[in-house]
Amino acid sequence: MDPYARSALVVDDDPLLQRLVCSLMERRGFQVRGASSVAEARDRLVEFSPDVIVLDLALGDEDGVDVLEHLAKLGSGAAILPVSGFDRRVLRSAVHLGRSLGLNVLEPLRKPFTSAQLTEALDSIPADMLPVAESELAQALTDDRLELRYQPKVNLETGQVTGAEALARWTDARRGPVSPDRFIAVAEEGELIHALTRRVLEVALADCAAWRAAGHDIGVSVNISARSLSDPDLPAQLEEEARRHDLPTDALTLEITETVAMRDVDTTMKLLTRLRLRGFALSLDDFGTGYSSLVELHRMPFSELKIDQSFVTGLSTDADAATITRAMIGLGHALGLEVVAEGVEDEKVARALREMGCDHAQGYLYDRALDARSLRKRLARVG
Ligand code: C2E
Ligand code: CA
Ligand code: CA
Repeated sequence: MDPYARSALVVDDDPLLQRLVCSLMERRGFQVRGASSVAEARDRLVEFSPDVIVLDLALGDEDGVDVLEHLAKLGSGAAILPVSGFDRRVLRSAVHLGRSLGLNVLEPLRKPFTSAQLTEALDSIPADMLPVAESELAQALTDDRLELRYQPKVNLETGQVTGAEALARWTDARRGPVSPDRFIAVAEEGELIHALTRRVLEVALADCAAWRAAGHDIGVSVNISARSLSDPDLPAQLEEEARRHDLPTDALTLEITETVAMRDVDTTMKLLTRLRLRGFALSLDDFGTGYSSLVELHRMPFSELKIDQSFVTGLSTDADAATITRAMIGLGHALGLEVVAEGVEDEKVARALREMGCDHAQGYLYDRALDARSLRKRLARVG
């Protein structure tokens, strides 16, 4: 079977129309199943999770809203094409409802439609809207198609590169580049996240060892997801991996987002302490977006605090963002932490941060995420 074959569900209580839509979609390469009622649609959704759903909003006595609610409960990522003979306002409110439930709802199609109109609607589904299946991501990992890019971390005072953050990249043959926010979320739903985190750490440590062998004394930062923090073997594994690459443990910084770190303070605390005792650096990522109390912040063994870009971007124009950022920098320093600002896009912001005493910065002003070779060239350029 073509691993990229797309599947579809056609929900319509008009048997003739259902058959027509099904056969048209089959001709376009979809594997299609039909349903004539809400109950049937629910049954089908137990059997498979379609990439595309054509949904008639008026199903006899029932309505498609029940199907939308059910899809939201399932967390469906399918592209949903609503169709109906009702006027545009009814269609619009159904679209609005579906989207507010977090569903991927396309522009609706009004009945009666021609096969050309349906074809056009199907063709306009952006490839990157198609859901990511765990199996596809697993295959990409097996085939080594997941890559790392590195965004330099710069000393705000001297402009020197002091480290680099590894950011995972996946370009899928069918969808093009898939954002890490999306595929990390898919990996986190199952067990795949462990293999992904291990792979990212392996590559990042190897690259970091190569930079250092070339005379550039910089460290590497890796994002660690929530699920990986529940892996008690992580500290020992990491120590072993660092040793294998002849790297001191303090060359690796593990970035943990604030929301994750504070979700289960006791478990996190245990793992973080064990990591810190082995010498790894720990960064509290997206700081300002979660709810850490001062007490917890004080107790947790972080070495770095990373101010979320939502505060940084508006720094030079928004007085509140500036006040909050200044306070966060002061707090970080009072706790003995290095402070990094992420998302620095212009010189005005950099100047403001420098004036506030922030230590490091990352952002498009300096660099986007570079491949390992470009980073090496960048390092050679600035010495
Ligand atoms: P993050 O850790 O907060 O990473 C920073 C994100 O901001 C990156 O997006 C980066 O490309 C982007 N960025 C950097 N500088 C600027 C700037 O000046 N302006 C703006 N607007 N954006 C900037 P990216 O690469 O799409 O990563 C998104 C998120 O995905 C990351 O957020 C991180 O949470 C997650 N992620 C990426 N790679 C990995 C990984 O290997 N493992 C895990 N667990 N998560 C990862
Ligand atoms: Ca990060
Ligand atoms: Ca961040």
